[in-house]
Amino acid sequence: MPISEFANSFVCDLVAYEPGKPIEETARELGLDPSSIVKVASNENPLGPSPLAKEAMRDAIDLAHIYPDGGGFKLRTAIAEKLGFDISNIVLGNGSNEIIELLCHTFLNRDAELIAAKHAFVVYKLMATLFGAKYVEVDDPDFIHDLNAMADAITENTRLVFIANPNNPTGTQVTQEAIDRFVDRLPAHTIAVFDEAYFEFLDTPPDVLKHVHAGKNVIVLRTCSKIHGLAALRIGYGIAPKPIADLLQKARQPFNTNALAQAAALAALNDADHIEKTREVNRQGLAFYEKAFAERGMNFVPSVANFILVEVGDGDRVFKEMLKQGVIVRAMSGYKLPGWVRISIGTAAENARALEVLDSVR
Ligand SMILES: *Cc1c(COP(=O)(O)O)cnc(C)c1O
Repeated sequence: MPISEFANSFVCDLVAYEPGKPIEETARELGLDPSSIVKVASNENPLGPSPLAKEAMRDAIDLAHIYPDGGGFKLRTAIAEKLGFDISNIVLGNGSNEIIELLCHTFLNRDAELIAAKHAFVVYKLMATLFGAKYVEVDDPDFIHDLNAMADAITENTRLVFIANPNNPTGTQVTQEAIDRFVDRLPAHTIAVFDEAYFEFLDTPPDVLKHVHAGKNVIVLRTCSKIHGLAALRIGYGIAPKPIADLLQKARQPFNTNALAQAAALAALNDADHIEKTREVNRQGLAFYEKAFAERGMNFVPSVANFILVEVGDGDRVFKEMLKQGVIVRAMSGYKLPGWVRISIGTAAENARALEVLDSVR
């Protein structure tokens, strides 16, 4: 008998997450110079890491032989102070993706249900599947999460409801009013997870933390991977009422976030200059694409994040054709959007190149 017969069936059945295609891999396969490749596939920061974070990492290198502070005291204290919480409300993760996993470890089993929107970030579905739970998908008309319908879908078995705000890959945001109404409807056995990976890009950011303050069954996830440009370091955090945060602390590995990442995140958190520059580059890039797509009569979803979804006919073909010319975008067939690609906002030069290559293949 093959060994897979002895494995958990929900692991065998899993379709693994397909990340944006790496630059090195593309260069190798196509015989291109890595420095000539434009990767606009994973919503990374086109300006690079926060300079303050780079400096902090250089300082931290000398202590690389010492285990990190597993409790992340300095970083959690800084996050708590910045957001007006107690350190006991802050949970660190190896990327905010790890906190998604910790939530599933803590609250899912084979009888549990997890609710997310039809075009939500796919990691929610992967995690529900990995933990053998039932994944419940709710329609999102016009690519916007329908929080009323999501609340209607809650049953006695629902443990987690994921709301990516703004959502990836759609780039859309839900209103404060919809959030407040939704939180009011949460039963005692269900936690709302507000994934705010792109929060810092928003011109009209929602206030979900007030619900955490009020002790509601709400957790907010943030990450250093996007605005701070630290995706390679794998660090993110959650803000939750103490009873939820305490459980997640039990579920994590003792040293889940590394010392370089903690030092970098601490410095990046208050690098106002880098944050503002990134927001400005993003604002200009979004405007560039929206104007270009409108001029070409292309269908796109207006975005408040650092990427944009555009309809191109055959997304897989356009992805492959663009790849051959050294521009990596993200095909969306895995998101039930086979006709679309998602393009991350880059520098002005990267955006111009991506558009030129897109024009040449569509
Ligand atoms: C990019 C992203 C994250 C961040 O993941 P990390 O593990 O922190 O790198 C989380 N949620 C969504 C919806 C994202 O798009």
